[in-house]
Amino acid sequence: IFDLELNSIGKVYDNGTPAVTDFNLSVTKGEFIAFLGPSGCGKTTTLRMIAGFETISSGDMLIRGERMNDVPPQRRPTSMIFQNYALFPHMSVRRNVGYGLEVKGLSKADREAKVDRILATLGLEDIAERKPEKLSGGQRQRIALARGLVVEPDILLLDEPLGALDANLRKAIQNELKLLQKSLGVTFIFVTHAQSEALALSDRIVVMNQGRVEQISPPHQLYTRP
Ligand code: ADP
Ligand code: ADP
Repeated sequence: IFDLELNSIGKVYDNGTPAVTDFNLSVTKGEFIAFLGPSGCGKTTTLRMIAGFETISSGDMLIRGERMNDVPPQRRPTSMIFQNYALFPHMSVRRNVGYGLEVKGLSKADREAKVDRILATLGLEDIAERKPEKLSGGQRQRIALARGLVVEPDILLLDEPLGALDANLRKAIQNELKLLQKSLGVTFIFVTHAQSEALALSDRIVVMNQGRVEQISPPHQLYTRP
C-alpha cells in the first residue's frame, strides 16, 4: 500500500485557469519527492491539493489507501511548511510549535512531552522561550519544521522552504532536512524551482511543465531518457 496515490488529479481554478492536468504519482513511505519546474507550472497547486487547501477538480487522491478528496486539511495526516514560515510573531517558540497540538485538543502534559522532544530533535531547546521575530531566518525555518513535525504527520509538504535563506544556510538546512527525513521515516514532498536542490535532496524528481508531469526520475537519471 502506498503512502500517497494521485490518480489523474487535476485542478481548474474558478476563473477557468487549468493549473494541473492528469497528475499521476505513487509515493512509498519514507520517500523524498521533489516537484521541480518553472514558476506557474502547478507545483504549489498540487501541494495544496494534497494538503487539502485547494479542492481537487478531477481524479482521486489516496493516503495509505484512504480516499482524501473530501477530507478537510486538519483531518489529513499531512503538515505543510511555507517559505515565509507563517509563525505567530507574538508567541514564544514553544507555543508556536505546540499550537497544532492545542488545536487538536491534546492535554498540556501530552503537548509538553511532544514539544520538548521535537525541540530537542531540531536543536531549539535554548531558544524555546524566545519570540520568532527576534530570531534568524534559519532558526525560524527550524521552528516551522518543528511545528509541522510535532503533530507526527505521515507526509510533510514543503513549499520552497529554503527560498528565503542565503546560500550557506540553505546548504546547511538541506543537510538537516535529509537527516531528519531519514531518521523519522516521514514522507517528504518538496516544491522547488531549483534543480540543484531537487538533485541534492530527493529520491525521485517529478518534473512539471504547464500543469503536466513531464517525467519522474531518480536524480541520477534526470538527464537520461526513460
Ligand atoms: P508561487 O511562486 O509560490 O507560485 P505566486 O506568486 O504564483 O506564488 O502566487 C502567490 C499567491 O497568489 C498564491 O496563493 C496563489 O494561489 C495566488 N495566485 C497565483 N496566481 C494567481 C492568479 N492567476 N489568480 C489568482 N490568484 C493567484
Ligand atoms: P507554481 O507553484 O509552479 O509556481 P502554481 O501552482 O502557483 O504554480 O500556479 C499554477 C497556475 O495556476 C499558474 O498559471 C497560476 O497563475 C495559476 N493560479 C495559482 N493560484 C491561482 C488561483 N488562486 N486562482 C487562479 N489561478 C491560480
